[in-house]
Amino acid sequence: MKLTVLGCSGSIPGPGAAASGYLVEAAGFRLVVDFGNGVFARYQQLHGPFTMDALLLSHLHPDHCIDVTALYVARRYHPEPPGDRLPLYAPAEAPSRFAAAYAPNELERDTLDLSDVFEFHALGEKTVHIGPFEVVSAPVAHPCEAYGFRISHGGVTLAYTGDSGPCPGLDTIVRGADVLLSEASWTHAEDRVPDLHLSGRQAGELAARAGAGRLLVTHVPPWTDREAVFAEAQAAYGGPAVLVREGDTFTIGESHGD
Ligand SMILES: [Zn+2]
Ligand SMILES: [Zn+2]
Repeated sequence: MKLTVLGCSGSIPGPGAAASGYLVEAAGFRLVVDFGNGVFARYQQLHGPFTMDALLLSHLHPDHCIDVTALYVARRYHPEPPGDRLPLYAPAEAPSRFAAAYAPNELERDTLDLSDVFEFHALGEKTVHIGPFEVVSAPVAHPCEAYGFRISHGGVTLAYTGDSGPCPGLDTIVRGADVLLSEASWTHAEDRVPDLHLSGRQAGELAARAGAGRLLVTHVPPWTDREAVFAEAQAAYGGPAVLVREGDTFTIGESHGD
């Protein structure tokens, strides 16, 4: 399994940096996990506009999904459009939320149907098979319907927190994973808003508690001290850890090459 960081800027895009988006590849299948501001630009740069095989969205905050509106334009109006619909796994409200995000006025919002381009699948607390991947989605602690994912193929597992505060769902999906891709949105402090994000320390504690083989720290906002967040995560985890950057690639499985 190969992971490519398409974007990792937390909460908003940063200067020259896309928000959340990750390409997970195995057996020739391209699964894109989250599709925030700027991610479609980076994806096209690497692989053109139409080569992804499915899209999986953790939740519907713009920094994780808003480029779906641009992908809709590309797949609908490109002079040589793809002939098929793109499978899109997301919270149940995705069809109406993307119609509202794309439409320029209320009239179009109420009549627009994006299902000519996307094949919508509603996520829940369940296991789905997407191409060669088994994906376990677990509800996590965030102020909207939001999921963390446990993505497995060929005996190796990548766990991804999406956005979440500490919660039992995260421990479930991370347990024994080869790699944990964890958000860490701020440094640790007792007065942080609960059920919203992980601190660096909490990301490290999650990785340690769940026995993850490797920790990749992501989703640090541009206004936050990246190195301070990462230092907390490293200290709490004690295992191999990386503060990811856009464009990074990781092999999950036989070797641990970067
Ligand atoms: Zn976010
Ligand atoms: Zn969020």
